Amino acid sequence: MTDDARSAVTRLREEMIEAANKLLPGLDPVRAFAAGGLHASAMKALAGVEAALGHHERVGLYGNASTEGEPGNCPHDPDSDLHFEDPDGSGEWLCEGRPEGAVCSSCVDGEGGERVDWPCPEYEGILKALTGKAAGHG
Ligand SMILES: [Zn+2]
Ligand SMILES: [Zn+2]
Repeated sequence: MTDDARSAVTRLREEMIEAANKLLPGLDPVRAFAAGGLHASAMKALAGVEAALGHHERVGLYGNASTEGEPGNCPHDPDSDLHFEDPDGSGEWLCEGRPEGAVCSSCVDGEGGERVDWPCPEYEGILKALTGKAAGHG
């Protein structure tokens, strides 16, 4: 799925570069200097937003894959290309054909709690601030 907040950041950055390219050549040196400073500040703010988004990424959850020992977990062969080892290091094999929602890469529900469903409240907050829209679920 597309990451709406990240694409909003990319779009804002492009808009700012385009605006600066149009604006700066026509300005006298003093104004151009001030506008350049504003532009640099806005770019830093966007980089900060992007850094925050790096802590809130969608992590898809998948059901167990069929294995030699447990061939009934999913409809595929145990060596199907859809199967991959759990990146969390549980040793389980998971099946891309059995998506089971998604969680945030960082957010947990209280100290030591379960990971929260995606999109998490932090991501929703960032997205809403960037676009005025709430995230689509999924
Ligand atoms: Zn989060
Ligand atoms: Zn499978």
